[in-house]
Amino acid sequence: MSDAPHPFREAVVDLAAIRANVAALAAQVAPALAMAVVKADAYGHGALPVARAAVDGGADWLGASDLDEAIALRDAGITAPLLAWLHDPGARFAPAIERDVDLGVSSLHQLNEIAQAAASVDRIAAVHLKIDTGLSRNGVAPADWERVVRAAAELERDGRLRVRGVFSHLANTSPAEDAAQVAAFERALDVASAAGLTPELRHLASTAAALRRPEARFDLVRLGIGIYGVPPFGDGTTAADLGLVPAMTLRGRVAAVRRVEAGTGASYGHAWRAEHATTLALVPLGYADGVPRQASNRAEVWLAGARRPVVGRIAMDQFLVDVGDAPVAVGDEVVLFGDPSSGAPSADDWADAADTIGYEIVTRIGVRVPRRYVDDR
Ligand SMILES: *Cc1c(COP(=O)(O)O)cnc(C)c1O
Repeated sequence: MSDAPHPFREAVVDLAAIRANVAALAAQVAPALAMAVVKADAYGHGALPVARAAVDGGADWLGASDLDEAIALRDAGITAPLLAWLHDPGARFAPAIERDVDLGVSSLHQLNEIAQAAASVDRIAAVHLKIDTGLSRNGVAPADWERVVRAAAELERDGRLRVRGVFSHLANTSPAEDAAQVAAFERALDVASAAGLTPELRHLASTAAALRRPEARFDLVRLGIGIYGVPPFGDGTTAADLGLVPAMTLRGRVAAVRRVEAGTGASYGHAWRAEHATTLALVPLGYADGVPRQASNRAEVWLAGARRPVVGRIAMDQFLVDVGDAPVAVGDEVVLFGDPSSGAPSADDWADAADTIGYEIVTRIGVRVPRRYVDDR
């Protein structure tokens, strides 16, 4: 047991899977360029190793949400084109401009702040103007768009900044509503060009639209969840259906084994009782590690060569699995999710059990779970 190949709990990230997913998606969307989105610590996979793997796999761009994430990538030696788009009100843009981070712009105020920051470091900032086409989050409000593009064109003529891109984000509500957003985006592009802007990168699609709406690809697609091998749709489409490989495997080792009699209650509130004598295995991961409590009594794990049910409430540090009469021992490997071709559940299976989406399952893996990188080419 002491020489077991993996510790108590860990998330194994296969960088070869990231590379292969980026390559497969980039080939599918070509001639559009591919941006690999590595925000939120690369959806919990680790921003720096994923950024390197994505570039190796052929990503033309990297995307972060916050400036701090983008700056950390630059300071770690990542030189690929890089865009950051979600800024806090007091954001300090100058350090990002000095590091050649392109900046998303969602308001006239941001545009002016970026122009000032660029002047303060004697640089020309590259910006991507974001139009809200219907998601109602950030992005320039449609009523303000003309004013913003005119101001941007003036700053560009004055040599203060360069408008490299115009972008927006889809609500993925329905084909009809996506089509309405595509049309609104095209109108916004017309307004921008009438103001004298010539953005070389028009981008709208994230993974879902990149795969299913070729007309939304424009010059660049922003690929997040797909590069991690997790399907974006939540409709039963698997990673394999999309030619993708799940990059993350969440696993641990059985911490205790207990034989129980019929009628024995398990875990808090005795939300489950044994119907007959059986063996329970204790798995040392809990909601502190991102295992959703909502999946209590619903999810499955891979243990002792089969899928086995999670029984009773998932606690902060641990949960129980009913292994029946299988000969399970302390130290045995248990896989919560990974590549379903190995028999293990997928992150999507856990999402179904917890009434959420695969995005949330991988992104919420806690800090107590070490990430280990492998490269199974
Ligand atoms: C997170 C994000 C993406 C990536 O979305 P996926 O569905 O993970 O591909 C793309 N664009 C923006 C603006 C985002 O915030």
